[in-house]
Amino acid sequence: MNQLAQEIREAAREREARLAIARRFSHGTPLDISRGASMPVAMPDRGPGDHRPYAMSPDPCPRCATRGTLGCQHQKPFEARSS
Ligand SMILES: [Zn+2]
Repeated sequence: MNQLAQEIREAAREREARLAIARRFSHGTPLDISRGASMPVAMPDRGPGDHRPYAMSPDPCPRCATRGTLGCQHQKPFEARSS
């Protein structure tokens, strides 16, 4: 048996095992890795017309729990200041 062929077969088997686990927890919904639906939409600083306050910390917004680094409708993204 070719060593490389055996490694490839082994890797494929492991991948199949991981997919089987993923399917079991996806409750029948097709896996769609590319959509990235769990990422909150970032709301960057829109300039002078943007009257939101800057986030005081990278911690989640107290009102909507969006990370301070992303910004949300309540605050502009947190900017780390080197001081
Ligand atoms: Zn918010």
